[in-house]
Amino acid sequence: MSENFERALPRAEEIDTEALLAGIIRWVEMETPSDRPDLIDLLLDHVEQSFSGLPVEIRRIPSRDGCGGQLVIEYAPEGCEGQPALMMGHVDTVWDAGTLAERPVKREGDRLHGPGIFDMKAGSYLATETLRRIVEKGLVPPRPIRVYLNGDEEIGSPNSRETIEKLAAGAAFVLVPEPAFEAPGTVITARKGWARFSLIAHGVSSHAGGNRTDGRSAIHEIARHIMEIEAMNETEEKATFNVGTVMGGTRANVVPDLARIEVDIRAEDMATAERLVARMLARRPIGEDVRLEVEGGMNRPPFMRSAEVVRLYEATRALAEHLGLPMNETSRGGVSDGNFAAAIGRPVLDGLGCNGAGAHAVHEHILLSTVAPRAALMHAMLMSRHFQDLAIG
Ligand SMILES: [Zn+2]
Repeated sequence: MSENFERALPRAEEIDTEALLAGIIRWVEMETPSDRPDLIDLLLDHVEQSFSGLPVEIRRIPSRDGCGGQLVIEYAPEGCEGQPALMMGHVDTVWDAGTLAERPVKREGDRLHGPGIFDMKAGSYLATETLRRIVEKGLVPPRPIRVYLNGDEEIGSPNSRETIEKLAAGAAFVLVPEPAFEAPGTVITARKGWARFSLIAHGVSSHAGGNRTDGRSAIHEIARHIMEIEAMNETEEKATFNVGTVMGGTRANVVPDLARIEVDIRAEDMATAERLVARMLARRPIGEDVRLEVEGGMNRPPFMRSAEVVRLYEATRALAEHLGLPMNETSRGGVSDGNFAAAIGRPVLDGLGCNGAGAHAVHEHILLSTVAPRAALMHAMLMSRHFQDLAIG
């Protein structure tokens, strides 16, 4: 099989890592917290400028409702045909503006540290830059290439979801350069679905000493729900439950009339997810004379390891072997926008970003040695007709 791959595909050793690192650092040094659409716009401006004068079509979807903007870059030169290959990543991060002053980009051996570098500026940059280099060289890919960047992934992609689903539905396959966690070469072929709920208990307040029995404790009520929900970790095989926040009460001597929890649920498949969502929404007060409000639902559907996903993965493994790169797959509990694309039945491969560690954590970093291999792999996936034939059939 290997000999059918195009000979002209560049090897990782031929890729100039230092130039890519400079580009990654430039992106990291433009801070882009999800709640600062103005800063996200500056990064998207920078991306647009990097394509100026090149034969691509760029569409900007402006920021809205406090969510960062989106950018679609399409390259469809004469000679390519069919549904486009889609690469999509986010440019927003969980780090507030000013984080960089406390924790500047730092290079240490094989590690490059920086806020948002691993999740997922390195990956989104590599996807964008891989396309830019293909365009600059005037290469003609077998199919059109689309790169899509959004700025609201870390807050659940409320604005971009519609665009993601539309772009994914029209794509031959979808590549997501979110961070890759384990050994170099790892990609992600399944992710759990994610649901979030808030439960608010309304009780009746009273004096804790004088007339305690007139009161109805909202904290007592919510505590019983906490115990029940956490206990589901023991009984549900294909899902996990976490009560992540708890709030309530005012003073020690007051029977509390208000308490609230937030619950995070991860489910492996759609049937489980739907059943658990229904079960959460059907929760009723446990005690007497209390009221319970339940709000929430599924944010991202499960990304299942479908036959289409396996086919794309197998093709990628063959391609990686041809390029002399390691390749293996894993599944994750964390979600990405790949969940949306996979849930509508498209072949999706996720985790194509750089290896490293520390997503949403202060030790966040990428491994320098994985930059060129990932760039080589992305280039080959976009340029190899043989790969695309294997991947899609
Ligand atoms: Zn991410």
